[in-house]
Amino acid sequence: MDIFDIKALLICALIFIPFEHLFAERPQKIFRKGLAVDLIYLLFNGFIIKLAVIVIAAGALGAAAMLVPQSITQAIDGQPVWLQVAEIIVITDIGVYWAHRAFHKIPALWKFHAVHHGIEDLDWLGAFHNHPVDAIATKAISLTPIFFLGFSEASIAVFFIIYLGHTLLVHSNLRIPFGPLKWLIASPQFHRWHHANQREAYDKNFAGQLPFLDMLFGTYNHTGDKVPEKFGVDDPIPATYFGQIGYPLLRCRKLSNRAVPSTEA
Ligand SMILES: [Zn+2]
Repeated sequence: MDIFDIKALLICALIFIPFEHLFAERPQKIFRKGLAVDLIYLLFNGFIIKLAVIVIAAGALGAAAMLVPQSITQAIDGQPVWLQVAEIIVITDIGVYWAHRAFHKIPALWKFHAVHHGIEDLDWLGAFHNHPVDAIATKAISLTPIFFLGFSEASIAVFFIIYLGHTLLVHSNLRIPFGPLKWLIASPQFHRWHHANQREAYDKNFAGQLPFLDMLFGTYNHTGDKVPEKFGVDDPIPATYFGQIGYPLLRCRKLSNRAVPSTEA
């Protein structure tokens, strides 16, 4: 988590825990498997990623000051905040889409991303369960254009709040019908069909917020109202935090069923 503090965590917990209890898609305990590890991700990883975002922002803003004409940054900064936020969501999610797709399709990268897919009891806290290499690379790719182009601080701050709420929502164990909006706004249903450990779900639904990107790039998963049978991966992901951090650096003992390029059409 990048923009995070204890107050934000409490607010999120007070929203998601009761709602996941009332509107759960699958029966799941609050104190479920992997909860302690996810809390370590939230607190420790969150700090590392926040530092990385500050470094990325400083680098991009410094480069932009030298390379991007002021007329461009002033024109972008001068737009209404709501329009800037909408533009930021589109630009960052294109970055998220392609970074995410690369982390699935390139075997060396998949080992980092497999840590996130190792979650078996998916809920809102799973949003924080990311290997720092995966999280920081994705942030660098998706956020650099935003800092480079000169979007206003206010619009970037609003975007971070929306992104945080949205990424928790799509990982949550909630059943919410999005109706016709399901093409426009990523739902829990959309993202859990990215996490399903079923052949038809592999390498689909890469977008973080905008499902139409998957439709545009040919990776949208039409699942209807089906509920996935199981989450997780067949890769041998260790159970502990430090085991998971070191996992991508170890020699692969078992070939992933996802990172091997498919021979199917
Ligand atoms: Zn993924």
